Amino acid sequence: MGKIFQEADFTALHENKEWVVKKNRGYYCIRDDGSLIGFKLANTHPMEKPWRMITAHSDSPTLQVKPLPVRTSKTTLQLCVEVYGGPLLSTWFDRDLGIGGRVSVLTEANSISTCIIDFNRSMAIIPSLAIHLDRNANQGQRIEKQKQLYPLFCQCFNKDFSLHEVLLQQIKKEYPGLSVCKIMGFELFCYDTNPPQLVGLNDDYIAAGRLDNLVSCFVGVKALLKEDTADNSLFLCSNHEEIGSASFAGAKGNFLSTVLERLMPNVALKSRLLHDSYLLSLDNAHAAHPNFPEKNDPEHFPLLNKGPVIKYNANQRYATTSKTAALYKILAEELSIPIQEFVMNNDIPCGSTIGPIAATKLGIQTVDVGIPSLGMHSIRETIGSQDPFMLYETIAYFYTRPTLP
Ligand code: ZN
Repeated sequence: MGKIFQEADFTALHENKEWVVKKNRGYYCIRDDGSLIGFKLANTHPMEKPWRMITAHSDSPTLQVKPLPVRTSKTTLQLCVEVYGGPLLSTWFDRDLGIGGRVSVLTEANSISTCIIDFNRSMAIIPSLAIHLDRNANQGQRIEKQKQLYPLFCQCFNKDFSLHEVLLQQIKKEYPGLSVCKIMGFELFCYDTNPPQLVGLNDDYIAAGRLDNLVSCFVGVKALLKEDTADNSLFLCSNHEEIGSASFAGAKGNFLSTVLERLMPNVALKSRLLHDSYLLSLDNAHAAHPNFPEKNDPEHFPLLNKGPVIKYNANQRYATTSKTAALYKILAEELSIPIQEFVMNNDIPCGSTIGPIAATKLGIQTVDVGIPSLGMHSIRETIGSQDPFMLYETIAYFYTRPTLP
């Protein structure tokens, strides 16, 4: 996302430097490699304009490599992983897994650097046990995380194998200018290397990994690149949502609030402007599954390719209010884009998003919206192929409509 903003002539800002920002210009700032804020100041009097904000999250449930990363079982070298967030673990077996993430290194200049790496090929796999060795395999069995989740990494006969050596080679390849003395640590994750596909007789569906929530990140970034944004526009992509958002870079931290403080140092003016600001919190919604229609509320029944979903929850697990929903409805209606409305089945606890966190921390009116999806948190999720563009058009209009109703 940083690269997209850079190519669109947005200026990179760093939290440890002084900022000089100008009207009608775009900027972006990255915290801890995993969270990003992009913003564009209004054309006229930006310091007196409210904000139109969109949020999404960058992380997805996955398997994360442990600090002591490998074990051997006979001649098989295996990765040691722990579970990040709440993946549907049954979908992680028999998949070609790539490895990517962040490595912290000590450089020859005696400083700590972080490198984002991606091996960009299949590196590991967790084979299922053959049905012949477990005749009850189709009877719905518990997954024993500590026992079963060791991806195969290589058939290694070298007792001195070191993953650090492999990482060093990869960093050399991706960062030829960086002189690294030593690997100090990493956050490395597994992902399905199978690329996204259009699926269905009429290309009705998109099947891909991490649609929750990269599809929202994608449309959010694209919307902010629109030329004719009105007011001040901001896009926040936050890490660690899947694990509760409480972290240095997560939405419960101070990334967004400190960025806004720097842009609006006058406290009274800031609270006045935020009071008139709006936030669209983007995260995927649960479409009704045709095999499990009873899992949805029968009157709130989002379907694929029928438009983005406004999400409500009486207990404010979604931040939508009737007023903020009204704003979104007006935007969609003016573009003749359909909307759907969702509340959780009363018997099933409701998930949440960054929306209520941002609304609470900033005091900003928020609406939770998302693309209807199936198989959320599976290694491969499914959405309708029409919905992302409908969401994109609506949120781009949120940024560009000369005034908000
Ligand atoms: Zn999500």
